[in-house]
Amino acid sequence: MTGQAADSWQVLPAGTFALDGGAMFGVVPRVLWQKVLPPDSEHRVRLGLNCLLVRSGPQVILVETGIGRTGDATFGRRHAPSDEDGLASALAAAGVEPEEVTDVVNTHLHWDHAGGNCRRRPDGSLEPAFPRATYHIQRGEWQFARQASARMKGSYRADDFEPLDRAGRLLLLDGPATIAPGVQVRPAPGHLPFMQVVTVHTETGTLFFPSDLVPTRHHLAPAWGMSFDCEPLVVAAEKRRWLERAARKDWTLLFYHDADAPLARVESAGGRFSLRPAEGD
Ligand SMILES: [Zn+2]
Repeated sequence: MTGQAADSWQVLPAGTFALDGGAMFGVVPRVLWQKVLPPDSEHRVRLGLNCLLVRSGPQVILVETGIGRTGDATFGRRHAPSDEDGLASALAAAGVEPEEVTDVVNTHLHWDHAGGNCRRRPDGSLEPAFPRATYHIQRGEWQFARQASARMKGSYRADDFEPLDRAGRLLLLDGPATIAPGVQVRPAPGHLPFMQVVTVHTETGTLFFPSDLVPTRHHLAPAWGMSFDCEPLVVAAEKRRWLERAARKDWTLLFYHDADAPLARVESAGGRFSLRPAEGD
């Protein structure tokens, strides 16, 4: 291994859940988005939770933690999760114990990205679900989540991040950072002011994890954003910038919320982006 490369990565499919299709596609008319992602009878589309596991030397890094345990009846009716605890199953299938995870990266703290950060002890109190891990979060996002405005409150659950602070497992980042050899985070504002994206360089290429900058393969066009985006115009500009870069460098993309085809490569021609299969990954 060179000093700058991670050893390997794999996708951890942590189940699926349903979300209002209109919210997922922002200003895009339903007649357009329903052709690419047909909604169910309650107007919802099915979304993936494609977490990422990276090995780099002695470090075992988890990017995003899914939606967590989903026993709550209201949540179940609203979001119809496919699994009781999808990330735990995916980690077990990969042969990784929670205690072996050394680092957790949350691109942001919305409940569908940080929902599995913590777990309940028998006495009902909360503790980090990965007790030996350092949790890497942008300082701005940490502050934003704690002071969430009325419009954003429904997207955050304090139980997903306050216990990390109490347990002393939090590492707050101020901009770009290296998590391990080959594993970098960089700010990508728009969805939220301090969201971060992840790149993983290995001997065979680079994986790009754009998080909610490009949540599914159907969100490639810069104007196809989400209602949850704080600053849609910033999302459009950042998306164009990152996708141009991914196309030029032939990066593999992992779409966190794509339930059907999470991996692809992107091409850019005439100001438009298109995908091709990520063969060989
Ligand atoms: Zn999301």
